[in-house]
Amino acid sequence: MKIHEYQARELIATANIPVPHGAMVTTVDEAVEAAERLLGDNPPVIVVKAQVHAGGRGKAGFVKVVKTVDEVREAATFMLGNRMVSPQTPPEGLPVDRLLVAEGVDIEREIYLAITTDRARRTNTLIASAEGGVEIEQVAEERPEAILKVPMHPIDGLSDYQARELAFALGLKGKQVRQFVAIAGNLSELFVRSDASLAEINPLVITPASEQYPDGQVIAIDAKFNFDDNAMFRQQAIAELFDPTEEDPDELRARNAGLSFVALEGNIGCLVNGAGLAMSTMDIIKLHGGDPANFLDVGGDASQEAVTEAFCIILGEKGVKGVLVNIFGGIMQCDRIARAIVSAAEEVGFEVPLVVRLEGTNVEAARAVLAEAQGRMPTMSTAIDLEDAAKQVCAAVA
Ligand code: GDP
Ligand code: MN
Repeated sequence: MKIHEYQARELIATANIPVPHGAMVTTVDEAVEAAERLLGDNPPVIVVKAQVHAGGRGKAGFVKVVKTVDEVREAATFMLGNRMVSPQTPPEGLPVDRLLVAEGVDIEREIYLAITTDRARRTNTLIASAEGGVEIEQVAEERPEAILKVPMHPIDGLSDYQARELAFALGLKGKQVRQFVAIAGNLSELFVRSDASLAEINPLVITPASEQYPDGQVIAIDAKFNFDDNAMFRQQAIAELFDPTEEDPDELRARNAGLSFVALEGNIGCLVNGAGLAMSTMDIIKLHGGDPANFLDVGGDASQEAVTEAFCIILGEKGVKGVLVNIFGGIMQCDRIARAIVSAAEEVGFEVPLVVRLEGTNVEAARAVLAEAQGRMPTMSTAIDLEDAAKQVCAAVA
């Protein structure tokens, strides 16, 4: 699960990571009011930032660093009135409904700091770079040695000495080191405590020297978090941050029906039970020259209603030219799937070719159900095994 930057900033603030004040707004007038309030504190600059679940906002023109209320109005009008297109959005971009208006800071240096799980090492790992900011992807690609990695101990977490070594490796000096060590420690504890799968601060900046901070202040000016969906049952406060308007509507619909669904680019809709079987079904479609339109796992024991919902979602996807059903009935009874296929056909009407491969528990009963319905479902055919099914559906959409 993803959250917005303004939510992530509140989260890190509660973990004692310094971050400038700001307010989330949904209209130009609110943006102007927020800016007027913030300007009372005399910040060097104000930032206006689109709140969408995608990065690359800076380069897309959806992070504006400004000085006056008029500029805030202009930036807010632009962002709320245009879709944001970046390498991290779909080609048509994303609508912007929320903005963050925040106190800005003067920047001496930008550092990258993140934590994620390194699956190869099986540990949570700090990732940092002295070259943070909007070019971090390019740095990672062209000069991977500029990206530092520090594994966290599974029980003890991040040690102070590790954070100190990292601070020195990033070129931090004097009082910056202690500030960085506190931030890295707080972020690592927050990561574990909140069941995060990604915690990223890019950039973590160093401000110019001031009276209060003679070596500059180390402060976060952007934050991004992803969380483990499987942990949301014990993370109620985080779960409440969920913003359904940022989700793909079909993925949301599937989630509400207890299905796991991911929309893809191809034209063959797939309805499968079990994630492993779904993956191999996609592979075999590719092997025979086809292109899956989605990944859909109805689970080991989906209800007839859930299966019907799954069909409705697949058939509602634009670009679906054929559907492959691949069910192995272990816990799932094949006749239940067969009845769901027929009821979905009656509900939404199949016009595209439908290839069905069923195997396992109650398969004979299932075949009888399909045979009985064949007359009403002229585009349906059955397959003898997975390979046959893949060949049939690929031929049907070619
Ligand atoms: P992203 O591009 O979506 O990751 O958005 P960021 O919040 O990271 O902002 C992008 C860039 O805008 C940063 O790397 C900074 O260079 C600049 N920026 C953001 N906030 C401020 C600020 O408060 N002051 C200054 N001077 N620049 C900022
Ligand atoms: Mn950023």
